[in-house]
Amino acid sequence: MTSQWTHVPNIDRTAVSQQVIEIVARALDQDPAKVHLHSRLWGDLGAESLDMLDIAFGLESTFKIRVPHSDLLGRARDHFGEERIAPNGILSEFALELIRRSMPELDPAQIRSGLTPYEFRRTIPVESLVRVVMRLLEQKAQQTCPACSGRLADSESAPELQCTQCGLTQPYPSGEQIFMDDLVAVGSRIEAPGALSNGTAPREAK
Ligand SMILES: [Zn+2]
Repeated sequence: MTSQWTHVPNIDRTAVSQQVIEIVARALDQDPAKVHLHSRLWGDLGAESLDMLDIAFGLESTFKIRVPHSDLLGRARDHFGEERIAPNGILSEFALELIRRSMPELDPAQIRSGLTPYEFRRTIPVESLVRVVMRLLEQKAQQTCPACSGRLADSESAPELQCTQCGLTQPYPSGEQIFMDDLVAVGSRIEAPGALSNGTAPREAK
């Protein structure tokens, strides 16, 4: 029996990494052999905003995902407010901790006091895109049909998911929502009493 559905493949980080490198290289008109996971998109490869849109489109159509439309600092500003994230144009200690915990691929030594949002953006490597794609693919693979709990697979006829049992269609999970939820969870762990070694004394629990 031939299936009308594309099965969600086992997620192979090495294969994803290679595809991401090819998408980035194509968008930036570069030789894929010269694009590495540690290459910094803005800092080394000269990416500009339009290139990033091109890259986002390539990631969405290749992996059948919806990437977030804002970056980590954009989401942090939306949720926590500019004053908590970058007062006076310098990233706060809270913002630096959000970055360290949310982007483990970054060299922690580069996430130092006094960093500006512009300098931070220049440190972001290709590997950050791989992390985003892996997170979204894992989330998609875990999603089940809300009607019958059947397995969802990529629909071949439209950019959406379809239940392999009852046929119900579902949009791809929202990358913006997934990464916002992750950021809020990281933020509340940082704010939890005693979470920061140099923080204030634990507050009363009640
Ligand atoms: Zn179903």
